[in-house]
Amino acid sequence: MDLEKIVQETYAYGEKYLDQGNIVDYIPGLKDVDPKAYGLALIDEDGNFYEAGAIDTRYTIMSITKVFLYILALETYGLEELRKYVGLKPSSKAFNSLLDLQLEDNIPVNPYVNAGALTVSYLLYKKYGAKAIDKVLEKIRTLAENEEIDIDEEVVITSEHAGYANKAMIFSLQNKGPISKDVDVFDVLSVYNRACCIRVSTRDLAKLSFVLSNDGKNRNGVQLIDPDHARISRTLMATCGTYDYSGDFAVDVGLGAKSGVGGGIMTSTKAGLGLATYGPKLDSRGNSVVGIEMLKYISEKLNLSIY
Ligand code: GLU
Repeated sequence: MDLEKIVQETYAYGEKYLDQGNIVDYIPGLKDVDPKAYGLALIDEDGNFYEAGAIDTRYTIMSITKVFLYILALETYGLEELRKYVGLKPSSKAFNSLLDLQLEDNIPVNPYVNAGALTVSYLLYKKYGAKAIDKVLEKIRTLAENEEIDIDEEVVITSEHAGYANKAMIFSLQNKGPISKDVDVFDVLSVYNRACCIRVSTRDLAKLSFVLSNDGKNRNGVQLIDPDHARISRTLMATCGTYDYSGDFAVDVGLGAKSGVGGGIMTSTKAGLGLATYGPKLDSRGNSVVGIEMLKYISEKLNLSIY
């Protein structure tokens, strides 16, 4: 299989979708991006890279961070303890739906919706205090083998200012739900917002995807995540990773994936491949339009569907 050719073809295929979708506007700091920059990166089982387009462009990881917040929480508390605070079920509602939380008696449905990730951030904050964010950043740097990964402080400021839905949700979680009354929710919000503002490239996301797809091992065979935690992440990515599009994504693409409103999509694959895409214009559910289209294309070409 000529992976180089297929990656270049996938990139060329993506171009016709560049006019579709919109750049996220509820976080003002995310607006200043090149709408035409897009790309994809694939890593084969042997660790070779195949890349096309804007793969060095850096953008905020946004919701993709939730995968790593939950892995840290799994390492800290274990799955059974976490189940008491956050469910494991898909949602048919938007990722920041307060209604969804209220319908579920204030227990977040899964760790990849905002209410779930805020609760996970609370649990990490409870254990590590303000150092929780350092732990998340360190984890992502280690898994992506890139010490230069940093936090976009400008986007942090606008996320903190404009994150009204998250503020409503975290107060609701504290009023009745898993967040205890004795914490300052703004400290927890800071962990969450900073974790969302970690700045990565598509090449970084492909390396993160590689580790998840290889049961927690990186390209050098170093075990960085417990294989069971990698399996749990892949499962949640498949069932909950693309918001309320997850069921359609399973049919259309057939991979585990986590998207973020910064425009990135990190997949988890069978066959040990690392695969990630970027395109800043989003569909109505918050997924990159060109990213989804490129994934549909390459999944079919490489027969990647896990179903
Ligand atoms: N920081 C964003 C938020 O909390 C992340 C959402 C996303 O990427 O889906 O709304």
